[in-house]
Amino acid sequence: MVHVDEKLEPILAEVLRRNPGEEEFHQAVKEVLESLGRVVAKHPRYANHALIVRLCEPERQIIFRVPWVDDSGQVRINRGFRVQFNSALGPYKGGLRFHPLVNIGIIKFLGFEQTLKNALTCMPIGGGKGGSDFNPRGRSVGEIMRFCQSFMTELHRYLGEDIDVPAGDIGVGGREIGFMFGQYKRLTNRYEAGVLTGKGLVYGGSRARTEATGYGATYFVHSMLATKKQSFDGRRVVVSGSGNVAIHTMEKIAAFGGKVVACSDSNGHVIDEQGINIALVKEIKEDGRERIAEYARLKGARAHYIEGGSIWDVPCDVAMPCAIQNELTGKDARALVRNGVVAVGEGANMPCTPEAVRIFREAGVLFGPGKAANAGGVATSALEMQQNASRDSWTFEQTEARLATIMRNIHDRCAETARDYGAPGDYVLGANIASFVRVAEAMEALGVI
Ligand code: NDP
Repeated sequence: MVHVDEKLEPILAEVLRRNPGEEEFHQAVKEVLESLGRVVAKHPRYANHALIVRLCEPERQIIFRVPWVDDSGQVRINRGFRVQFNSALGPYKGGLRFHPLVNIGIIKFLGFEQTLKNALTCMPIGGGKGGSDFNPRGRSVGEIMRFCQSFMTELHRYLGEDIDVPAGDIGVGGREIGFMFGQYKRLTNRYEAGVLTGKGLVYGGSRARTEATGYGATYFVHSMLATKKQSFDGRRVVVSGSGNVAIHTMEKIAAFGGKVVACSDSNGHVIDEQGINIALVKEIKEDGRERIAEYARLKGARAHYIEGGSIWDVPCDVAMPCAIQNELTGKDARALVRNGVVAVGEGANMPCTPEAVRIFREAGVLFGPGKAANAGGVATSALEMQQNASRDSWTFEQTEARLATIMRNIHDRCAETARDYGAPGDYVLGANIASFVRVAEAMEALGVI
């Protein structure tokens, strides 16, 4: 069991005290502080000048009202958030989440993780995150557009290609980014392409951005497996979720010769022993915006659907949680270990509970934490910003090749850092230390900020 070093205990206590009731944020900070004992032992100055407390305190938190009118003419109210967490390394960068459970604590956990993840990419981007408790499920296209326009009417004051650059996340895909970019353009009278990423290709988007998080997570697991002279080839894989990250994770696993046997949505999971037909999942979830249960109905006897239950009971060699935070518990981790899992890669942000992570690490399972494994999305967003700044547009192959190199470098950086700090193979420690040191160095250099 890992504990927070005694030098860091007062820092953790201070963060918990300043942010009461924000459980996910506490969880994310605690996990990072658990890794930093070895850093402050080697570089005691990092425990001074309230550096870590400052790193845990967002630079700015914006909460605003989002009024909109539904199709029946009724006025609705949601709450909008943008947490501009840290800009020591570049403009705030991180996605927008539209999901009914969104609150300030969740946005802060995501912003904190994003700051460290962005540092790991070694690209010039700071960290931020935002969103709303708006639930897009069951809403018409007109309602979604009006919501996005109202959301951007307030948010635009705080954005800019050198200030803060949002992208998508749960519930925010290309369609929503398009509506928000359109509104930003009208409000500012500027064609500032670099102000949002995840845009459509015809108006400044990057090839491979849609695929990047899932492809990148798969590249990361591929690199972890390679350290044990293993690969995806012929392996059984379970991927949770069926959204952007899950779909492209499944696509790349298949390209590497793996067989994805199960995927899910928030209602249940489908098992297809012959291998999930990814084109069909895309049709159901992306085009039809329907439930994953539809997969089993269309596939008949070949697949079956389990409402509720845990997808992690399905035996597999590799598990890739790609849905939402804390979706994989200690009980799930024990089931996976019992069934012989060799690698776990977090496509989602913090999908494994602390207990689950501990079980994987103790069992010697290769474990790729989200801030490293899913960094391909934001890295390709930074490539989109680069293309926008130079008014250029790269080919898919060129962009994906950059993504593959970035993911290999992130993997190697985590592995080397873990080795340097006496914990070879511990990617959690490697990712937390490598990212922390980068942000901390920049913050120190910039004075007391
Ligand atoms: P999407 O909205 O495209 O997809 C989310 C998927 O997760 C949906 O299939 C949704 O099902 C499912 N889901 C939600 N809650 C649960 C649950 N409790 N159990 C099982 N499935 C669930 O979001 P993304 O794919 O973009 O994001 C997924 C994760 O990846 C998030 O943690 C996000 O923060 C992270 N991420 C995303 C990046 C990106 O580029 N998009 C970048 C880095 C990380 P349903 O249809 O029922 O809602």
